[in-house]
Amino acid sequence: MELRAPKGTVDMLPDAARAWERLSKTAHALFARYGYEPIYTPLFEHTELFARGIGEATDIVTKEMYTFADRSGRSLTLRPEGTAGVVRAAIEHSLVPQGSVAKFYYAGPMFRYERPQKGRMRQFWQIGVELLGAAEPSADAEVIALLVRYFESLGLPRERRRLLVNSMGDEACRPAYRDSVAAYIRAHEDGLCEECRRRADANPLRAFDCKNESCQAVMAGAPRISDALCDECRAHYEAVKRRLDALGVAYEEEPRLVRGLDYYTRTVFEVQAEGLGAQNAIGGGGRYDGLFATLGGPPTPGLGFALGFERTLLALRAAGVEPGAAEGVAAYVAAVDESARDAVFGLAMALRDAGVAAELDHRGRSLKAQLKHADKLGARVAVIVGPDELASGEATVRDMLTKDERRVALVDVPARVAALIG
Ligand code: AMP
Repeated sequence: MELRAPKGTVDMLPDAARAWERLSKTAHALFARYGYEPIYTPLFEHTELFARGIGEATDIVTKEMYTFADRSGRSLTLRPEGTAGVVRAAIEHSLVPQGSVAKFYYAGPMFRYERPQKGRMRQFWQIGVELLGAAEPSADAEVIALLVRYFESLGLPRERRRLLVNSMGDEACRPAYRDSVAAYIRAHEDGLCEECRRRADANPLRAFDCKNESCQAVMAGAPRISDALCDECRAHYEAVKRRLDALGVAYEEEPRLVRGLDYYTRTVFEVQAEGLGAQNAIGGGGRYDGLFATLGGPPTPGLGFALGFERTLLALRAAGVEPGAAEGVAAYVAAVDESARDAVFGLAMALRDAGVAAELDHRGRSLKAQLKHADKLGARVAVIVGPDELASGEATVRDMLTKDERRVALVDVPARVAALIG
């Protein structure tokens, strides 16, 4: 047996796990202020949900899904993204009655069979929001601004990230645009990789996303969606940008931004960060006004974003920000000898009950070894109990910074420690 995590997965060890908790906590607090509620959908769904929702011709559906038959032979797929499941739940439980707006956020793992590299995993973690029921451009501006505010609140400096926006049109103007890109691809096949040539039929817009340099050079000359938008899509896009301008949210228009899922309509956006190499998209999203109907639900507009935990962490660390810093223990309770062990155990528990992060030694180590351990853990206070202290019903409370020591009645220890750690 190979005793290793499967390729493309990692164990979230404490440094990363603390960072994940910090990122999700920050998200929950911020998103709640914007009226988003938590929702957690299953990690696997019926395969056809993703095939239909994400699109049969997308990279995700054609080659990246973890699909398996369960014991009854039903085809299930580990979720490669969060939107399809949330929209399925919204339809199933009628969460968005006609005319109403519902807002949800989620956080958890996603699964894609991709070639692993820096910032690209097979199991990765996302945090995302979905705003359902509003077709108006102010909803787009709110969602985009929320993503930007989130990276701001994590401390990712503005100069290390870029926000790209585009409109992909809708069912009125996109089909003709797709055809014109397909025709362009056929006319320029010589300079394109085999995959892009194949894309002409099924999914021509994906050629904009090819990492191959010669493909990028060819696609730079392709027709631009900005020249092909219908009047409604153009007006919507202008209104979104006006609101972003009013909010002071800096963005760049990127007419080649298409994103990899079929369900997007109109507004799409992506945040890219410095210091990540090829996988520099840390978050992105867009509007998907056709998705409810595609999945068999009542026509309901919607949009959302998802951000990747691993890449966000890489971007933060590249900027010198460490979101997974350990908090350390506040108090270390040490026994001078065996006679004080019970008292020390009781004190440590009393401190924890009083809300103080406290640690003690279970192994019967010497006082010197215990105090060394206290230093290593960064304890602010040491509480020491020996035969003398036991005789008078007290403990010695030592401020580890100033080395100031004071005898305190056992019952007063939690209050004294709380006062010292402020
Ligand atoms: P997407 O669902 O493809 O729009 O991706 C949204 C975000 O999830 C991206 O901006 C990345 O930060 C992250 N992401 C997507 N795929 C992966 C992956 N294979 N490994 C790590 N992060 C990913």
